[in-house]
Amino acid sequence: MPQSLTPLLRSRLLSELELLQQDILHYLAADHVAEYQQLHQQLQKHPTTHWPDLMKKWQTPELQEKSQRLELVQAALSQMDMGLYGLCSDCECRIERQLLMNDPARQRCAACETLYHEQLAE
Ligand SMILES: [Zn+2]
Repeated sequence: MPQSLTPLLRSRLLSELELLQQDILHYLAADHVAEYQQLHQQLQKHPTTHWPDLMKKWQTPELQEKSQRLELVQAALSQMDMGLYGLCSDCECRIERQLLMNDPARQRCAACETLYHEQLAE
């Protein structure tokens, strides 16, 4: 990963993280279910790294999708902190630069991504 690209991708990840947080809170606030109000309050008291765990009990498809994306974005950010960013989670080779530009939270290289989806489809 060329050094120059990382700060750009980091700022994209950080703004996506912020949007996701707002999106989740809006989603919970819009639905006037007592459980959601409780979850809404809980989330505001905890750091975002705890959110996916807290949301596990309330897995509607919408929340599940947001929670998974939140986890991915945070994983990519902590990989940046550890200097492991841009490495494929399956084969550990470098993820293609263009793919990271398209999705900075990407975890697999093109070959492993294809393999992964083939296995899912089986
Ligand atoms: Zn790979």
